[in-house]
Amino acid sequence: MPVIDTQALVVGAGPVGLFQAFQLGLQEVDTHLVDALPHPGGQCAELYPDKPIYDIPGLPVCSGQELTQRLLAQIAPFRQPLHLGQQVQTLSRQADGRFALRTNAGLEFRTHTVFIAAGVGAFVPRKPALVGLEAHEGQQVHYHGPDSTALQGQHVVVMGGEDAALDAVLGLWESGTCASLTLLHRTDKFKASPEQEARVRQALATGGVRLVLGQPVGLEVGPGGRLTALQVATPADSTERLPLDALLPRLGLSPKLGPLADWGLAMERKLLPVATDTFATSEPGVFAVGDVNTYPGKRKLILCGFHEATLAAFAAAALVHPERRVLLQYTTTSPRLHELLGVAGSPSP
Ligand SMILES: Cc1cc2nc3c(=O)[nH]c(=O)nc-3n(C[C@H](O)[C@H](O)[C@H](O)COP(=O)(O)OP(=O)(O)OC[C@H]3O[C@@H](n4cnc5c(N)ncnc54)[C@H](O)[C@@H]3O)c2cc1C
Repeated sequence: MPVIDTQALVVGAGPVGLFQAFQLGLQEVDTHLVDALPHPGGQCAELYPDKPIYDIPGLPVCSGQELTQRLLAQIAPFRQPLHLGQQVQTLSRQADGRFALRTNAGLEFRTHTVFIAAGVGAFVPRKPALVGLEAHEGQQVHYHGPDSTALQGQHVVVMGGEDAALDAVLGLWESGTCASLTLLHRTDKFKASPEQEARVRQALATGGVRLVLGQPVGLEVGPGGRLTALQVATPADSTERLPLDALLPRLGLSPKLGPLADWGLAMERKLLPVATDTFATSEPGVFAVGDVNTYPGKRKLILCGFHEATLAAFAAAALVHPERRVLLQYTTTSPRLHELLGVAGSPSP
């Protein structure tokens, strides 16, 4: 894969990472964003998409998803590439003074500045505790996808009892492509919307989906190292054998600080200490904004992250454009900012 050259890389596309990209756009700093999730919005999109937020300045109320959409609309004029579904794994300083970063999907960046907006960490799928499962990941064990056509004619087991598990079961049941479809869950109680639960109960009643209660305790592997079955401990203290071609664990996501701890940056209780005039970390050129940073008086609020991102962008502009004086310009009146925002020629408010 070709190496991507940029002036700024934002690690994390939560609300603060997205607003960081906006401020960098205003400062004319070329920017790419990366997020481990398959969609932007961080905690807002992942943990409370439909819940109301009441403390965004000027927005009396908006949901987590609406805030994400508004932030995406705000950065749209800058056309900054957003690389989703991949976690930044490594960060190192190059001989030329720039930073090299690599994702677990093999993307490589060379950048003058790095903005860590990693929040509470990368959201990664919770995995069943089964010895030897890793060997089958991406082959027969899928934490995201695959679509129903890839599972045509297969015996499929979906694990979990929350929205994501029920969504997967319903999608596959409605496609009618699997040879058999089993939902494996500890109990017969689900944590999902009443409508979704009603649809799954209907699928169970028709016999199109089978519910198995229990916890997986082991794997059975056949010729060629192929996963052939799960051993499941049932509530009746027996072990049931569950033959399968594909296993889809849908046990939710959990945030993991992950590789960030190995990037050689000073840390305090798993957070990155920063200077409050620039939001720079211990490494010149690396900034930390939002929930991932710490300083006296820090509050983990979105609006505090927006302030941090603004000052960090000014500091980065001075590094990326040393030849220019970084002046304060108002979006209301600056012709240059209007040009960047694509509103040049619009009537003044
Ligand atoms: C239920 C709930 C309600 C809340 N309500 C409010 C509220 O009303 N008002 C308010 O101000 N705040 C609220 N908050 C807090 C607010 O959501 C956080 O302060 C905010 O999300 C922090 O934004 P962030 O961008 O710093 O981090 P996050 O939203 O955590 O986003 C970080 C992103 O970085 C990604 N990431 C991490 N590491 C990597 C890596 N190595 N590679 C690639 N991607 C990575 C993650 O996948 C994630 O998407 C609430 C939080 C919760 C849980």
